[in-house]
Amino acid sequence: MIKVGKQAWDVMVAHAEANYPNECCGAMLGTTIGSIDGGVKQVTLAEAMENSYDGAQGARYELRPEDLLAADRKARAAGLDLIGIFHSHPDCDAYFSKTDLENSCPWYSFVVLSIKGGKFDHANSFLPNADQTAAEKEELTWPKS
Ligand SMILES: [Zn+2]
Repeated sequence: MIKVGKQAWDVMVAHAEANYPNECCGAMLGTTIGSIDGGVKQVTLAEAMENSYDGAQGARYELRPEDLLAADRKARAAGLDLIGIFHSHPDCDAYFSKTDLENSCPWYSFVVLSIKGGKFDHANSFLPNADQTAAEKEELTWPKS
């Protein structure tokens, strides 16, 4: 399961709402208690990133590899790990699309935030399998303000 702390959650929602009606993206940093499979991932920091998709960004996002590397370095410097990636679905539910699956990687959690009419609606987290053919839903908690 993955638990997003208040500081990180506020960054994620603000970034998703600010980029509406486009998709936003970013990284989640934190710690894992227990094993990767059965443990609890605690997200303490979120890094807002620019959607670098070269085209209509209403239903697509792309992360720059160098932004992800920078986030990974920042995490290590703070004694944290890069736990996952988040992105938003403007006026769409928080499901994991075929494109999301193809662009995923199995060792991260993928949190999708549904933004409807410019405001946060709901979110889900997904864990892609090793061959990126399916992503299972992961229990996600966030601070209810
Ligand atoms: Zn998506």
